[in-house]
Amino acid sequence: MSQQARINVVSGGVSRVPRIIEFPKDNAGRQQVISDFFGSNVFGTKEMSERLPKPVYKSFCEQLKGGQTLDKITADAIAHAAKVWALERNATHFTHWFQPLNGTTAEKHDSFLALKTTFANGLPEVTAIEAFSGSELLQSEPDASSFPSGGMRTTFEARGYTVWDTKSPMFLQEGPHGTMILYIPSVFISYNGEALDEKSVLLRSSSVISKVALEILRLIEPIKEDVPRTKEIYTTLGTEQEYFLIDRGLYALRPDLKTCGRTLISGLPARHQQLEDHYFGKIPSRVLAAMSEVELECAKLGVPIKTRHNEVAPCQFEAAPQFEEAMLAVDHNLLTMDIMHRVAHKYKLKCLFHEKPFKGVNGSGKHCNWSIATDRGENLLNPSSTPETNYRFLIFLVAVLKAVLDHGDLLRAGVASASNDHRLGAQEAPPGIISVFLGSELTEVLNAIEEGRPVNKHVAGTETTQMRVEGTTLDLKVATLPKLNRDLTDRNRTSPFAFTGNKFEFRAVGSKQSAAFPVTILNSAVASALMEIKDDLKKQMGDKETASDEDMLAIIRKYITLTKNVRFEGDNYTEEWVQEAAKRGLVNITKSPEAFKRLLTPKNAEMLTRLGVFSMAELECRYHIMSETYAKEIVIEAQTLLGLLLQHVLPAAFSYRRELSESAAFLKQIGAEAAPELKWLAQLAPIISGLQEAVEELDHLLVEAQPILESEPAADHACYKMAPAMEKARSYADQLERLVADKYWPLPKYHELFSTL
Ligand code: ADP
Ligand code: MG
Repeated sequence: MSQQARINVVSGGVSRVPRIIEFPKDNAGRQQVISDFFGSNVFGTKEMSERLPKPVYKSFCEQLKGGQTLDKITADAIAHAAKVWALERNATHFTHWFQPLNGTTAEKHDSFLALKTTFANGLPEVTAIEAFSGSELLQSEPDASSFPSGGMRTTFEARGYTVWDTKSPMFLQEGPHGTMILYIPSVFISYNGEALDEKSVLLRSSSVISKVALEILRLIEPIKEDVPRTKEIYTTLGTEQEYFLIDRGLYALRPDLKTCGRTLISGLPARHQQLEDHYFGKIPSRVLAAMSEVELECAKLGVPIKTRHNEVAPCQFEAAPQFEEAMLAVDHNLLTMDIMHRVAHKYKLKCLFHEKPFKGVNGSGKHCNWSIATDRGENLLNPSSTPETNYRFLIFLVAVLKAVLDHGDLLRAGVASASNDHRLGAQEAPPGIISVFLGSELTEVLNAIEEGRPVNKHVAGTETTQMRVEGTTLDLKVATLPKLNRDLTDRNRTSPFAFTGNKFEFRAVGSKQSAAFPVTILNSAVASALMEIKDDLKKQMGDKETASDEDMLAIIRKYITLTKNVRFEGDNYTEEWVQEAAKRGLVNITKSPEAFKRLLTPKNAEMLTRLGVFSMAELECRYHIMSETYAKEIVIEAQTLLGLLLQHVLPAAFSYRRELSESAAFLKQIGAEAAPELKWLAQLAPIISGLQEAVEELDHLLVEAQPILESEPAADHACYKMAPAMEKARSYADQLERLVADKYWPLPKYHELFSTL
């Protein structure tokens, strides 16, 4: 690696022409619109209903509703139809696709190829065929001994099973050489049925919240002849995914980015995000081309990517889908990330999902927009135009408030990781205190109900109570502009958990992590609050079958008062809020090891086990895996940093020093003034010595970490000793990056990484 390598890559990168792909065409050769091929690679209910015999399809639908388990005949028929469909599209292999507890997805491909032996005239005759049985569809047994199990499974009890999650349809992804692979979304469980993955617990939490939400609707909604009853309730999720794209050539010259996904040294260039000119700016053409190909691939898989834009930091972007049922949305987000990663390659780009790839500019999150909906398409968190009398809405609203009040620390644990720690609390992302923002209108509604008075019509400058969701009309002071309705809530970007019109937005979720775990926790906490509310409401109702307005109002008022402390409308980034939150008894968890411990506190563990979302063993296993992963990630970073410092930074500094000293010696020899060189040398010396000491300290801490790496204290060691030591070393390295002549510096600098798209 040399300065020359940097220069070559930068000049190659800026002159790169984006690749051009063709959109699918119809029979007449005309380019199709996205809706023409949306979901074309999905073996969904439409394909199934067309390809399966009616009774088989009916039996599958029954199973989906939880009515019965899949029998062998149905499974065989579905497998056969899926195989025929997949083979028509050049599939050669199938795979169970699952989400083990290592933060990514896993797959193991099996060929459809099978050999069939028949006997003709007593002699065996072998024929090659394509086969796929119902049992292969339903279940697989990967050699799973190397996946994290947090001690739940040892290598000699290595059995793990993947089982088709029938709620998530099969789909095709591109294989090599124009072939396809059939993906079967699956859960991953141990020999004894314990969850070894993200999906199983998400499914459990989802059915718990659905059940209790339906029970509440039964209590508050009288039976009306002309209105069909809600039969199913589900949670909805829309994941706003933030990410960085940088030139792949430059990426390849940064060992820290390659190994850790973030830069471990380097300082900000003169210009980065201060002018706020990147956010929503013109998307660079290479990036736009890549985004478009991502959207095309997503569309074929039925993933509805809706929005694309530049984000705040240089080279930072966002993709947001239309929301879907939460479980599907989680799968679709993982697929989107996978596609982004692969497509970026084709444009000589690298997609970075790390929460904080670059120090000093904004990091990335995955805002999880979450709500509860009925099978009749109603959003239970829609306040309607009169939220003050929309008791159904208010019940679900106070349930979410109660959930965050009781289990805010658990929600914090759900987003804890070594990488997200760099983001949370860094004045650009929510702090470690989990509070809820409702906006002035709803706050007024809740205050009015609590105080038993009418809603103040003039709150937040509105003239009329009519506004609410439809909003008051905004005066734009230009006659030709259309009339605009004001939204119910303004934004508060500093809140970790904000009500945004008709859904909650959980902003603290990290860009790299799967949404599954945070959503599982959210589902569970809200389900638990709904159970409490349901019991209270029943007591309030006495022997009535349906709750009266007064019954509902009494309960709503009770929960408004109970949950007041968790509501915060101000700036979450200020020190005053930290003080205020402490007074209110809200915990402020700034570091992940503290957050992990919250998984096992009696209050949180009791809730999760009572609901049956986790067993105690499963929860302990989570705790161990999260702590261990945290420590290991920091150790890997420390090792990478050591390599960078020893092999790149110090040699560059030494080379420059040598040049300066040779120059000074020469100047002295000819009787010229060498003071400037000597001054520079004197300035470099303490920085280099400081760096050497930091290197020795880091080396020492790494030796200390080795024997404890598999145990609990490792996370604390990594957090409180290793991470600060890395920061200290970085500060010296970044000073050297500024001072050492550019020609000696081997690593691409931020200004190059930021400007080569
Ligand atoms: P906002 O501008 O308030 O963030 P958007 O309409 O841009 O709202 O939506 C952001 C994300 O929230 C999108 O992914 C969107 O699909 C999702 N979203 C909208 N409504 C809901 C809902 N009811 N449940 C879950 N997600 C939702
Ligand atoms: Mg955003």
